[in-house]
Amino acid sequence: MEIFIDGRKVEAAPGTRLIDAAADAGIAIPSLCHHRELNPTANCRLCMVEVEGWRTEMAACALQVTEGMRVRTETPRIAEARRAALELVLARYHDPQWGKPDRVESEFEYWCRRYDVTVPGSVKSPGPLPADADRHPFIRVDLNRCILCTRCVRACAELQGRHVWGIAARGERSHVVAGMEQTMLEARCESCGACMAFCPTGALENRAAAEAGIPERRVTTVCPYCGVGCSYDLAVRGEKVVAVLSNPYAPVNGMHLCVKGRFGAGFLHHADRLQRPRIRRWLLEGGTRRPDEPRGDWVDTDWATALGIVVEQLEGMRKASGPDAIGVLASAKCTNEENYLLQKLARQVIGTHNVDHCARLCHASTVAGLALALGSGAMSNTLRDVAEQAAAVFVIGSNTTEQHPVFGAMLRRAVTQRGAKLVIADPRAIDLAELATLHLRHRPGTDVALVNGLLHLIFKNGWEDAAFIAARTEGVEALKALVAQYPPSLVAQITGLEEEDLEAAARLLAQSKPMAVVWAMGITQHTTGVANVLALANLQLALGNFGVPGSGVNPLRGQNNVQGACDMGALSNVFPAYQAVGDAAVRGKFAAAWGTAGFGEKPGLTVTEMIGAAGKRALRGLYIVGENPVLTDPDLNHVRQALGAAEFVVLQEILPSATAEFADVLLPGAAWAEKDGTFTNTERRIQRVRQAVEPPGEAREDWAIVADIAERLLLAQNRAPIGPHAGWRYDSPTQILEEIAALAPSYGGVSVHRLESGEALHWPVPTADHAGTPILHRERFTRGKGAFHAVEHRQPAELPDAAYPLLLTTGRVLYHWHGGEMTRRSPGLLALAPESEVEINPADARRIGLNGATHLRLLSRRGELRARAWVTERVPEGIVFGNFHFPAEGNVNNLTVLALDPVAKIPEYKVCAVRAEPLP
Ligand code: SF4
Repeated sequence: MEIFIDGRKVEAAPGTRLIDAAADAGIAIPSLCHHRELNPTANCRLCMVEVEGWRTEMAACALQVTEGMRVRTETPRIAEARRAALELVLARYHDPQWGKPDRVESEFEYWCRRYDVTVPGSVKSPGPLPADADRHPFIRVDLNRCILCTRCVRACAELQGRHVWGIAARGERSHVVAGMEQTMLEARCESCGACMAFCPTGALENRAAAEAGIPERRVTTVCPYCGVGCSYDLAVRGEKVVAVLSNPYAPVNGMHLCVKGRFGAGFLHHADRLQRPRIRRWLLEGGTRRPDEPRGDWVDTDWATALGIVVEQLEGMRKASGPDAIGVLASAKCTNEENYLLQKLARQVIGTHNVDHCARLCHASTVAGLALALGSGAMSNTLRDVAEQAAAVFVIGSNTTEQHPVFGAMLRRAVTQRGAKLVIADPRAIDLAELATLHLRHRPGTDVALVNGLLHLIFKNGWEDAAFIAARTEGVEALKALVAQYPPSLVAQITGLEEEDLEAAARLLAQSKPMAVVWAMGITQHTTGVANVLALANLQLALGNFGVPGSGVNPLRGQNNVQGACDMGALSNVFPAYQAVGDAAVRGKFAAAWGTAGFGEKPGLTVTEMIGAAGKRALRGLYIVGENPVLTDPDLNHVRQALGAAEFVVLQEILPSATAEFADVLLPGAAWAEKDGTFTNTERRIQRVRQAVEPPGEAREDWAIVADIAERLLLAQNRAPIGPHAGWRYDSPTQILEEIAALAPSYGGVSVHRLESGEALHWPVPTADHAGTPILHRERFTRGKGAFHAVEHRQPAELPDAAYPLLLTTGRVLYHWHGGEMTRRSPGLLALAPESEVEINPADARRIGLNGATHLRLLSRRGELRARAWVTERVPEGIVFGNFHFPAEGNVNNLTVLALDPVAKIPEYKVCAVRAEPLP
């Protein structure tokens, strides 16, 4: 509709608040309590405007636009009222630093200056309340600067769903308070910093940003942690990132971030950052190393020497033992461009499909299972449409608020603000279970039985979407025959659930439309990972939940760019865009593009296979970029043994990770804030990553290192491949993205220009004029018809027994990330979660005689773990939970079992047998 603001014609969508419509048109109406991401309260009265035909001024934050509305935002009378309102607020405000030139001006200071409100001396005096009494590690609280706008209260309640802040007392005594006059952390604060990001005065202030002063520039980029793909601004002074700041235009997350995203950048400038290449002395001395010999000292060196040795070793092995004697581990933390180059290096230059990365350890089952059922292995919908439009969400095997926190908060909002139904299937009482309509605490490893049981009830009661099944699927009869054998009595026996709960869940999921299924590694990291995924695809096919907002299959990818690394073909069985290495036409296409004679038709080795082969020296050279198998692979004693015996390991990293101990050459790469490129988030959204600072010392961007190695190897091979995309002379990641677009059909229309112009591109984007595909499978599935697969329940590889009576399941915690190399070097995060912790049920704690001991020991057939004991009902009796964020004996992967899903080759991290003992 059209409205007129200060005589200017402005267009606005129906329902838009006047203050936001004005802001979109570049007209700033003052406000202290309003923010477009929060519900209005109209309590500061600064946004009063005149509306033609209305007898009194109106609060623009509470007023929705109407067709033809004519508004005046600034008149002498309004300006006078604003001055009066600001003076009233100032009357109880104290800030000794007011107006200091070396600090960032707050919104409040700005409006006071703008309306020429004089600041009395009392404002600059210390206030009556203690400043920084809360001692929160990231947020400085000074309630002398609070103006009771309640943005913090609303941000915590409405965005994070945590309700840490409230208003205590009334009248003159009203004040903002955490919990019951507690500290923020005592009041269950998750340290997302939303309260602080919305605060207009600095009463809640980012410690790091305040100490650093005014940033010289802000650079918009994407978070390096999880696959949600939040974007934000890095505040930079000189060559230092001093803080992470919300960017209100961030497409996925708006102002919201989680604790890791907002406060977990400390590792970037950590003293441990690798700054020069290093090599082992034995390499300098031209010797060899036997499998049982220690690797010896590190020696700092220059790039030419380090890369010369890498090329000499790898090329020597390639010549002597063939290309498959070498393996490349790509990285879900690197950009799309870098992953593209890594697999091109493996295939074009070395001549092997031995290229893989950690997707093998997290969502290989998703990719394989969904490819079979639907033809595409990715999330079908967007995070926002699931959170905003699903009538019900079935979360299975995803601790969403800790692993994908901003999306977890969106799900909280879906339940509390619009009444979406939530069904959680998880053995642990994860935080999201507090809001669930139903929480199914099934035994780990019984997901197929659970879903088959739900399908049994759905078909039995005629709750399936018969029209959808008839029009868009195949194979339903075989599925029906199979799930007929999963009556509630049997499923209850296998899963440990009550029959009534199964019935209630089946009814709720079937009768809420659209319904979205969300999962993560609780589904995929099993020997039945692919079967689990197929079962969930069966459920959504049977209920016709595809092709519309709020529906679909929604695997949440772990690392920031694990989706992109898969898309780029950093997998042993596919070229970029999932073009199978087994397809002769595909091989021909890439041979022509890269100027090679051809490629083998058999997939290469996977991550775990490469590590095993390196230990036996069947694989002689291993080039690892940004992966940390020594902490993140299962059965770590086996991994350490294998890497210890490996002949030649090159590690390209930003920090000396635990894997560095087993490397022969260490190449310093660049962190996310030090390079350009693109990441692809879990919802297939391709986003720009922008360089904010230079890499430290002599560290280089990873794409440049890979290209350098490739050129040197080609020279050593005396090869000059001829083909449209055969070369390695790249000026920038932009050029690499152009090559990707030429060879990966789903990225065909992606360009830096489009991304910079703000287009939201979810692949497939086949052409430059294609708008992208936020929702997959609208009219047809990628494979044509959706295929049902009759999958049987199978037991996990190792279950508790008399010697190891507890079932161990594993995962991550909110404050750390994977092997913890980054988060353990971000000081506040380490303060919040300083050591490895194991959740144990009170009954089990009693049984093992924990008797108040703070620490315990877990033992499996493969190793042991020492950790703090958290005695809690979060885990049911018989189950313990641990994480893999800490090195050495604190890492749960000392215990996990190297049993693989037969199709996806993903390890069964989620189930193994252990016993527990108290530690004195
Ligand atoms: Fe980063 Fe994920 Fe947190 Fe967003 S939710 S800030 S992407 S870790």
